[in-house]
Amino acid sequence: MINSFHHYAKLLADFANQSKDGYAIFSADDILICANNAFLGTFNQTVNNMIGLNFTEIIRLAFTEKTGPKIDTDDIEQWLVLAAKERRSRDFRLFEVDLVDGRWFLFSEQLLPTGELLLQTKDITKQKILEQHLSERTRSLTNLALTDELTRIANRRSFVASVQSELSRCERSNFKVALLLLDIDYFKSVNDNHGHQAGDAVLQQVARRISSTLREYDIFGRIGGEEFGVFLAETDRTTAAEVAERLRQLIAAEPFVLSGLALPVTISIGVATGTCMSFEQLYAEADSALYKAKHAGRNQVVMAVPCFAF
Ligand code: GH3
Ligand code: MG
Ligand code: MG
Repeated sequence: MINSFHHYAKLLADFANQSKDGYAIFSADDILICANNAFLGTFNQTVNNMIGLNFTEIIRLAFTEKTGPKIDTDDIEQWLVLAAKERRSRDFRLFEVDLVDGRWFLFSEQLLPTGELLLQTKDITKQKILEQHLSERTRSLTNLALTDELTRIANRRSFVASVQSELSRCERSNFKVALLLLDIDYFKSVNDNHGHQAGDAVLQQVARRISSTLREYDIFGRIGGEEFGVFLAETDRTTAAEVAERLRQLIAAEPFVLSGLALPVTISIGVATGTCMSFEQLYAEADSALYKAKHAGRNQVVMAVPCFAF
């Protein structure tokens, strides 16, 4: 019986030492009392260097030698205080650890009623790389779905979604907003006289010119063929009118140069302003102001009559 117990204990020890997963036991006073090769490999250390050290000493070793787990801090004392709060805080903890050499490990920490801590580590580098590829791909697909292919600015869907999220913020804070609808005048004749490609180039340049003058937090998008939207949060009616007029002048001031051709382009702008309005209401008001701007002769800004008093 005793023989077979020793036999199995040795088998288990051999198995643990050959396992790709790391195993380690910390005593109740947090001293590393045993560990297999895989665990020591995670820290890039040997038995002699590691066994007998306490948790804090192991972390300091990793930090000063810059090997094993990546310890991203300028203040190791602060790091250790935070780590001590987490460690032994629960019976069972799972967490991911990235190493200085680029590998990733899943650590599981189990606290025994007698105070010992069992640690298991599993190499999850492959899954992590896959995860990163997947999230990069999701990000680029999301970008693709939200960007207008021709002008590289937000498409209608993305523009409307961003404006709606700003409008819900407005509902909470009750600030003033403005929606500008910009439409290129006689754009059909650009296509008719100079070709569809020239039309495309004008659309790109108009988008670029407007982008370059807006603030970072203004929302700008292409919402139709030759129609653009600009949403200004926390903006009063006077400022909205000034911005719209500035944009109109920006387009009209300089002709657009396309392969040696200087093409004068103008835009008409309808502006709706208010507080806590729905996107649909704001859009309808800006659109009817734009319609008036077209009928009044184009190349001008028309402000919608506000629904709410300011
Ligand atoms: P208005 O001053 O009343 O706005 O006249 P307009 O000619 O600009 O307006 P209309 O709606 O009659 O014409 C818009 C034109 O925009 C027609 C369409 O072929 C063109 N268009 C829409 N999308 C694109 C595009 O992606 N590229 C090009 N080149 N043309 C486009
Ligand atoms: Mg037009
Ligand atoms: Mg149009």
